[in-house]
Parts: sequence; C-alpha cells; structure tokens
Amino acid sequence: MSKLNKKNKVICPKCGSDKVREYIYGLIRGPIPEGCVCGGCFVGPDNPIYYCDSCNSDIYANDLKK
Ligand SMILES: [Zn+2]
Repeated sequence: MSKLNKKNKVICPKCGSDKVREYIYGLIRGPIPEGCVCGGCFVGPDNPIYYCDSCNSDIYANDLKK
C-alpha cells in the first residue's frame, strides 16, 4: 500500500473510500470550492464535517476519532 501524504485526505470510516467531500458551513460568497459540500448556514455541534460520495453518508467528527 502506498502512503498518502496529502494532508486533507479523509477516508470514509464506513466504506473506506476516499471520495469524501468537506462540508462548508456559514455564509459562502462565490462558488463552492471543488470537493466541498454546502452544509447550510447553521453551524451546530452535531453537524457532520464530511460527506462520503461512495456510500452517501455523513461523516461526523466522532466517526473519525476511532
Ligand atoms: Zn463511505
């Protein structure tokens, strides 16, 4: 297996895919950056931080701590 050196590479804890996009919260001016998802303007402690394109599930901070 090759090591990934990309800092922002997130692996989905549910399916192991790296097709993970980051949620952006708050007011977004201009287009959404590539690889990101608009999560709405309300930021709460229970909001997911990533979205997996492979299994279509939200990834929460707790999921990544395992
Ligand atoms: Zn997944």
